[in-house]
Amino acid sequence: MSLRLGAMLPEVFRHLFKRPATVLYPFERNTVPRGLRGRPVMDPDKCIGCRMCERDCPAEAIEIKQESEATMPDGKVKKRYSMTLYLDRCAHCAQCEEICPAKPDKAVKLNEYFEEAAFDRGALKIVYK
Ligand code: SF4
Ligand code: SF4
Repeated sequence: MSLRLGAMLPEVFRHLFKRPATVLYPFERNTVPRGLRGRPVMDPDKCIGCRMCERDCPAEAIEIKQESEATMPDGKVKKRYSMTLYLDRCAHCAQCEEICPAKPDKAVKLNEYFEEAAFDRGALKIVYK
């Protein structure tokens, strides 16, 4: 026992004068690593309604729905879509962002927001319109 204590004491003293490795979350925050896969966010202005994200989502966390359809003066039909995201199922895999073919910019991207806890499951349902 005294041998173990002797080996431990230098380690204990060393750590007394070191900065803590943790922060007092949520009062203090570290910056998140670049590229963190946070919350998927959809931009309906860019969505072409292909439903690839819905089909490929491994957690069945996405629903794409057509909201409206209008014929433009040039005769082209313009459709608008909404995305319902069930964050309580989302695994933050980024497959939706990866597969989205919208150009020149993807219609769904993951941001760096990660604090998704909620008391009510309904609060984790987000509709982008
Ligand atoms: S990040 Fe993954 S699990 Fe979450 S909505 Fe996109 S495809 Fe589904
Ligand atoms: S993959 Fe992109 S363009 Fe296709 S439905 Fe999903 S968000 Fe819209």
